[in-house]
Amino acid sequence: MFIPRGLLSAQRCSPYSLCRTFGLLEVCRTTEENSAKQTTVSGALCSFGGSGVLTRCCLSLLEAIEGLGQAGCVGQDVEVVVQRVYSIPVPDYSPMTILKPRVPSRSSSAPPAEKGKTRLCVLVQDSYGMFSAVQLHLLPCKDDLHEYCHMWQGRTCVLRDIKVVQRVTRERRTRLFSLIDSLWPPVMPLKDHGNTPSESRPAGPAPSFCYLLSGQESSVEHEDGQTLSSLYLPPTKLTLRDILQSDLKTCRCSFVATVIHKRIMQSSDVGQGEVWLVLTDPSLQEEQPERPCRRTVALCVNTSCVLTSSVLEALNSPAVCRMSFRDSIKEHGVLLCVEQSVVEMCSVDPEGRLESSTPGSESLSHSLCEPKENTLSQPVRLDPLSPEITPNCLCSLTGVIVGVDENTAYSWPACNHCGSDNLEVLAERPENFHCVSCKSVVDKPDTKIQLEVFLSSSLSNCTLKVKLQQKTIMSILNTAALEGDKFPGYDVENVLGKEVGPLAVYVRVVTRKPSLCMGLEEICL
Ligand SMILES: [Zn+2]
Repeated sequence: MFIPRGLLSAQRCSPYSLCRTFGLLEVCRTTEENSAKQTTVSGALCSFGGSGVLTRCCLSLLEAIEGLGQAGCVGQDVEVVVQRVYSIPVPDYSPMTILKPRVPSRSSSAPPAEKGKTRLCVLVQDSYGMFSAVQLHLLPCKDDLHEYCHMWQGRTCVLRDIKVVQRVTRERRTRLFSLIDSLWPPVMPLKDHGNTPSESRPAGPAPSFCYLLSGQESSVEHEDGQTLSSLYLPPTKLTLRDILQSDLKTCRCSFVATVIHKRIMQSSDVGQGEVWLVLTDPSLQEEQPERPCRRTVALCVNTSCVLTSSVLEALNSPAVCRMSFRDSIKEHGVLLCVEQSVVEMCSVDPEGRLESSTPGSESLSHSLCEPKENTLSQPVRLDPLSPEITPNCLCSLTGVIVGVDENTAYSWPACNHCGSDNLEVLAERPENFHCVSCKSVVDKPDTKIQLEVFLSSSLSNCTLKVKLQQKTIMSILNTAALEGDKFPGYDVENVLGKEVGPLAVYVRVVTRKPSLCMGLEEICL
């Protein structure tokens, strides 16, 4: 626990439960009992207080839910195993903007603390095999998720003061059920609802429905110290090769991979829009004499997947990083991180061993980043361009320039100190610039060039348009200048017929009709 007991009990009495309020009203209306007795009665009605006198612990979620108390409250405590802990984003709005305040506030926008909030969730399973997804309190900080993972995941906990939100079926919540399916069949025999409660039964098909519940932090209480439940099924770490070569069309999978390229879709910051990552691991990079597999794979981090600050920081940095992906989805050959997926950083310690960067996580079973040699070969191997390639992947490409997109070819000055192109002409010395970014005088600005070329490659009947990097453009222009007797200008005609590559390129767009056409972008690895 990282909040003092006093705070916890204060939270327990917070006015969240209508059931409690009704209970109190009932008591006040019908009796003249003293306040001490009122407290006892209202406590008993809603299982508050944890005294255990009038509440009993139930082993079945279904039984507890069927014996529902007032106002949707589940009257009984239920013993469950927390199979997964994750968080979901909460839409950016403040209650104040919906319920207009009587006194006009100075600002109508949501308070900053309310923005980008996330809600803690657990997927629990009872000893009969039934699952429930429980939405708990808002996390003060997204990074607190790790603490709750350590505290709860894999452990037997008691659920109390929960409410039923909805009964959902497999058809309506395919992604939630893909997570449930990954936990099925259970690793130990289940209890049976039949006449012989002491007997266990072999697991049948995975459940076809489950309940969505809501509660608060105090609704989950773990019982028995550090031991993990025998019903807990931790995420199985797979290699990317295992995942790509699996015959399952849709499945949940957990793995550790190196992120070699990141791309933020939409013009927003990371954390706002979708993020595409290009991943690889030693299983994809090693020699593959049998069943050759791709060298890299694309993963989409959906906006419904909450990213912690260390992950966001790594995604905003150009450096290559290693991350663990827990319960991501393979859907039709694409990897996705969605609602119940958890992305964590893995760091390389000075001795070259890998470990989770989460403090104190070494001893914890849920962490996928085990200490291990980093055996990723350098440079990273990429697949050659092929007609089957899909957008957001990387490949290597060699070709001859057959055309230049004149509309996109231009050059502009940039600061020779910091590289910024935010320059202003000095009024007193028009031949010089002032760099707005580093506040220095720029005498000899660098020239930045943008150039998109059409390439012919070994891929016949395919139009390839490639946005080149500055270093490639410069080398082509310099070669052109050496061959001719011209001053190295930026005459695009000089580059025709020049061979380029092998280039590492990111596949931006692929159109197959009326003919195969790809928009590519050279990247630095
Ligand atoms: Zn500058």
